[in-house]
Amino acid sequence: MATNRTFTMLKPDATGAGYTGKIIDRIIDAGFSIKAMKWTQLSLAEAEAFYAVHSERPFFGELTAYMSSGPIVAAILEKDNAVPDFRDLIGATDPKDAAAGTIRAEFATSIAANAVHGSDSDENAALEGAFYFSQRELA
Ligand code: UDP
Ligand code: MG
Repeated sequence: MATNRTFTMLKPDATGAGYTGKIIDRIIDAGFSIKAMKWTQLSLAEAEAFYAVHSERPFFGELTAYMSSGPIVAAILEKDNAVPDFRDLIGATDPKDAAAGTIRAEFATSIAANAVHGSDSDENAALEGAFYFSQRELA
């Protein structure tokens, strides 16, 4: 069931810097298979809806402005232990704290512009995937 899926976005700093292919390669090399993927851009209202869980946090305005500022790649990924294994692959939220070899250590520029999103639970992975993809778009 949902325990083997997670959801990711490649964020506008990553797509804008030309890292899309490199990051997707890293994800595939780590053993994740792509179940759905799209290149798209969020409106501010859509970013506010996606990050509604963070609406009371001080960085909400900056985060939603940033996430709607350029293209993103959204994807549903499958692997055993997908949610925690993907969090290990991307590293800590702040790239200064991200372990060597993680995607954020390599590609992120700041705590806000940190290259990739990764779901924090199976429940949120399912909700976040459904925000972007219909059943028809899953393969
Ligand atoms: N963020 C930020 N400032 C902060 C903390 C987070 O701009 O002080 C942004 C950052 O882009 C992060 C996102 O808000 O990825 C969601 O925060 P969360 O704590 O869920 O971090 P994540 O799960 O992405 O590591
Ligand atoms: Mg999070």
